[in-house]
Amino acid sequence: MDRKKFITGTLFTGFAALFHKAFAGKEAAIEKISKADLRGVEGILSPTNTHMVGNGFKVMNYFPNGKGFEERMSPFFLLDFNAEVKFPPSDIAKGVGVHPHRGIETITFAYKGSVEHHDSKGNHGVINPGDIQWMTAGGGVLHKEYHEQTFNRTGGTFEMLQLWINLPAKHKMTPAKYQSIVHTQKPKVVLADGKSAVYVIAGEYNGVKGVANAFSPVIMYDVHLEENADLEFTLPQHYNSGILVIDGNITINEQKAPENHYVQLKNEAGKIKIKAHQKSLLMVLSGEPLNEPYVSYGPFVMNTEEEIKQAIEDYNKGKFGFLND
Ligand code: MN
Repeated sequence: MDRKKFITGTLFTGFAALFHKAFAGKEAAIEKISKADLRGVEGILSPTNTHMVGNGFKVMNYFPNGKGFEERMSPFFLLDFNAEVKFPPSDIAKGVGVHPHRGIETITFAYKGSVEHHDSKGNHGVINPGDIQWMTAGGGVLHKEYHEQTFNRTGGTFEMLQLWINLPAKHKMTPAKYQSIVHTQKPKVVLADGKSAVYVIAGEYNGVKGVANAFSPVIMYDVHLEENADLEFTLPQHYNSGILVIDGNITINEQKAPENHYVQLKNEAGKIKIKAHQKSLLMVLSGEPLNEPYVSYGPFVMNTEEEIKQAIEDYNKGKFGFLND
């Protein structure tokens, strides 16, 4: 190192120290991150094969069936993602007919296209791009999910995500309910570039509380990043945490994660540092593990085999209510 640079370096260090002193409360924001400060990446799942759910959802399943990450995301139980696809105009209804759920919450995020929901509690809603449908199946509900009629007739670009959150044992039989969260209701934190934003769905980001309440502690962020945007945040170290790249292309904690890749984070302390290489859309999921035994059978997720048998029996007896096809 030549002398001139050394002096400059020393001066700079001295100045930075003063700056730190003067803005002690802001220290975290200007601190340089060393690799040791970063939360580890456990693995990155490539896009999986697609399968059809009914005739309307062409999905990739990241968990529970994703290679290597089974049971890593409790209380999140299932993540199905219908990556962007064009549906042609259709006269035939497209979607999933009447079916039951018990023991979980099902959450549908519309990114492109529109989906219509009906359930046996009399709830009905249409979710349009940016909207979320948050259904608590609890003790039992029947529902059906179809492409919205006009969208179905004209066809168009479709992109949807469905997430199941397992309910803790003590809330398995909570009464079913339905919440429609439209885009404009989502609490928004605008980032430094003035355009990128974190929409807080559940939990908290920078002191802003999410719009939805789950039955166990969860954090969910709908993240919209412009090209070259930087995002840095932390999540509780014992929470199971993962990030799906819905659109775009990012680097996260020095790992490349392109579109449709799912990043499983380690359960450890550390910053999550994201750089968007193009306009990107992310889903951040983080939750306290339930640490309870569970048994799943199709649309039911309970704690014991007995409870699954009971769910099937109750469904067959019509205890989940009634819903027209
Ligand atoms: Mn369903």
